[in-house]
Amino acid sequence: MQIDSKFPGGNIVVESVTADDVRLHQELRDTGIDWFYWCFRVRGAARRSVRFTFTKSRAIGVRGPAMSIDGGLTWTWLGLDIVDGNSFCCTFPANAPEVMLGFAMPYQESHWRRFMAVEGKHPAVVQDTLCITPKGRAVEYVIIRCETSPVHRIAITCRHHCCEMMANYALEGMIRWLLHDSEARWLRKKAEFLIVPFVDKDGVEDGDQGKGRQPRDHGRDYEGESIYASTKAIRQMIPRWGDGRLHIGLDLHCPHISGPNNEVIYLVGSAHDRIAREQKRLSEVLESVADGPLPFSASDFLPFGEAWNTGKNYSGGKGFSRWIAEMDDVMLGTGIEIPYANAGGAEVNAVSARRFGTDLGRSLAGYLRSSDGIDTD
Ligand SMILES: [Zn+2]
Repeated sequence: MQIDSKFPGGNIVVESVTADDVRLHQELRDTGIDWFYWCFRVRGAARRSVRFTFTKSRAIGVRGPAMSIDGGLTWTWLGLDIVDGNSFCCTFPANAPEVMLGFAMPYQESHWRRFMAVEGKHPAVVQDTLCITPKGRAVEYVIIRCETSPVHRIAITCRHHCCEMMANYALEGMIRWLLHDSEARWLRKKAEFLIVPFVDKDGVEDGDQGKGRQPRDHGRDYEGESIYASTKAIRQMIPRWGDGRLHIGLDLHCPHISGPNNEVIYLVGSAHDRIAREQKRLSEVLESVADGPLPFSASDFLPFGEAWNTGKNYSGGKGFSRWIAEMDDVMLGTGIEIPYANAGGAEVNAVSARRFGTDLGRSLAGYLRSSDGIDTD
């Protein structure tokens, strides 16, 4: 049996392997707080049952680890039956010489490329490069052009915290809906989108935690001078692109492992009353239009000042949502938390998260239509 993490998104330290017992832990790298992302590959273990024990801190989510037998393309939750505390016992399928296991369901550049190989052909989609990272990787962005002169511009970002991958499946769902669904016709005629799928591209591909990165986290790099190429480029490009019509900024995240505020989808309340009111309005619309497998309740809104959402959380610097909300034309700048595994009792996976992306797209349309004084019917 060989265990390694030498692939995009890989992250593990193997401490010992004894018979069918493996002791290991997630690599924090330059993350200054404890975090839980890991992903590794096992070869030559077909038909064996192996126990994996995480020795440092909690590293298994509420639906157990996720497994891929197709090189990380698709993933399934293994469930809690195989979990005991901070260890799990995996019986490797006979037909899988190579298996990947992870905290959740990694979404890498290769997934985006695969998605763009199809959706990038749509005439409204313009793909470009935001910047090159210090490690020489391209940070992609796409513009989804409006069919007429845009009345609204909407900026969407993912992976300010590189480990928070479930957000990208929702993003895929939203883009596909926007490009193809007849329900999105109004939005296509009125709005232009700018989307950055991987703000911390190096972190995504290297398999970092990203959250709490030292000396600064990408999600806190919107104050003073940005230290990262991508956040710096976002701060330069988005206001210019917005051109007086930038009305919404969405920043998609995943929360912590489990418990309150970590197993429901919600908007992270702004400290500014004007923005918080708009966040609640979007939440109401989202609740009313959501009909996918992942439930959304406006009552799960997390007001500023509650739980983790306090001034202390942002002492390391300003985040994207606050930065964008401070622009004159922006009506709504918000973070949205999409849990890794469980949302209001429903399973979060690639399919259900994509479907939530559809709900999110429909809510943007409903929100803007009511802002424009158009009956949402
Ligand atoms: Zn985050």
